[in-house]
Amino acid sequence: APRSPFANEPLTDFSVAASRNAMSAALDQVRKELGRTYPIVIDNKPQPVGAVLARENPSRKSEVLGKVAMATAEQANRAVASCLAAFDGWRDTPLAERTGLLRRLAEQFRKRRFELSAWIVLETGKPWRESDADVAEAIDFCEYYAIEMEKLGAPQARDVPGEDNRYFYEPRGVAVVIAPWNFPLAILAGMATAALVAGNTVVLKPAEQSGIIGAKLMECLQAAGAPPGVVNFLPGDGDVIGPPLVQHPDVALIAFTGSLKVALLINEQASKTPGGQNFVKKVIAEMGGKNAVIVDSDADLDEAVKGVVDSAFGYGGQKCSAGSRAIVLDGIYDQFLNRLVEATKSLAVKAADDPGCSLGPVIDAEARDRILKFIEAGKRESRLAHQTDLGALAEQGYFVPPTIFADVPETAGVAQEEIFGPVLSVIRAKDLDDALRIANGTKYALTGGCYSRSPSHLEKVKRKFRVGNLYINRKCTGALVDRQPFGGFKLSGIGSKAGGPDYLLQFVLPRTITENQ
Ligand code: GLU
Repeated sequence: APRSPFANEPLTDFSVAASRNAMSAALDQVRKELGRTYPIVIDNKPQPVGAVLARENPSRKSEVLGKVAMATAEQANRAVASCLAAFDGWRDTPLAERTGLLRRLAEQFRKRRFELSAWIVLETGKPWRESDADVAEAIDFCEYYAIEMEKLGAPQARDVPGEDNRYFYEPRGVAVVIAPWNFPLAILAGMATAALVAGNTVVLKPAEQSGIIGAKLMECLQAAGAPPGVVNFLPGDGDVIGPPLVQHPDVALIAFTGSLKVALLINEQASKTPGGQNFVKKVIAEMGGKNAVIVDSDADLDEAVKGVVDSAFGYGGQKCSAGSRAIVLDGIYDQFLNRLVEATKSLAVKAADDPGCSLGPVIDAEARDRILKFIEAGKRESRLAHQTDLGALAEQGYFVPPTIFADVPETAGVAQEEIFGPVLSVIRAKDLDDALRIANGTKYALTGGCYSRSPSHLEKVKRKFRVGNLYINRKCTGALVDRQPFGGFKLSGIGSKAGGPDYLLQFVLPRTITENQ
């Protein structure tokens, strides 16, 4: 196969003073820009602002970051109409211009790297290093999908004497991109650039919790030269504008990443074919996970403890890839649990803008309350092995204590439901077969991990641990574009993989033209 010229964008090394200083300066600069209002943008024009949502820093709830316009259903219809009007032109724009847009967008991200990271830190409470990785992943999606589209874009010839055949791809039409807040730049930009480079026009709907970062992406798209109507920025309440967008007869495709509940609702609504809609809608959905890391009795404990802590508590467990179950073999269980608790105690729970923060707040009050409810249930269902004391942070922002439950029954709520917070359930397994049975025993199949030194055990794990992304002897989060195409099946997703070779195929329709000579 041809070797991809793609290379992942390097991450910033914050142990270098210059990088630390650049990030501090960016945070200072962004703090001078607080209090702005971010409008809806249709046809590249800011729209008059009606209702707004105030955005606050989850690390310091007294700090107001800005306000984001909240679209009405009527504005949703106008955004779709604008996308529809721009579609034919964008579809017929030469491929080099569409890939050029993605490459110029990547340049915008590189130029504004620390500033964008600073906004992510402030709006979503993500620590420095992970915010930087979010921007790097957004750059990766631009570069990767540009290359993939160049491969897909070349018509394939199947000629026989007297007959020329051309097989090629066309975009589907108007795409609605509905994104989560947990990778506020990367996932929003990833779904949008995939749709755009394939020639679709896009209604860009960021999560309510990360509307400012959505607005920053729109600024970057405009600076990169997105023509009017090719992308329309439509922040708003998902309950208000989601249904009119998803059910709109001119919307051809919905790309969604978020909760299982919303994905199923979108899938159901999109399956209807209203009058005037002469096609069946395409839904691309990435949902949740209840991911397990198996710790075998001969695992390297240093590695396993670190990997489980990173998987469970990275960004406070607010990743669909997070490892929220540690399934530990009997022989090593007590030793592993002790060391796990010690390692978790040493996590620096702090405001995300503090460079020493390893674990920040959760996204908002609603998330905090939901997670605390899970923790209360967990206390009834199993044994509380550790809970970090938050001190004054509990008042300052939306913090949840890193929590470990031990001896968790595999059927307990905390062992089955996606919590999306810093809560880890440790489950005891009799042997590897038992561990695999427990690991596969949820409705999800997104990521999984296994720490083991036994080649025969690892062979079995590779065969029997049925998840979209399986990681052996490393953490189960942090997939890299191209290297680990990301996505799951069962109720974790429809089976597509972002940052992988099949992703763009979902955004296009194949055609064949046969010419008799
Ligand atoms: N791609 C991310 C990872 O591998 C997870 C994305 C998500 O949480 O939606 O950790």
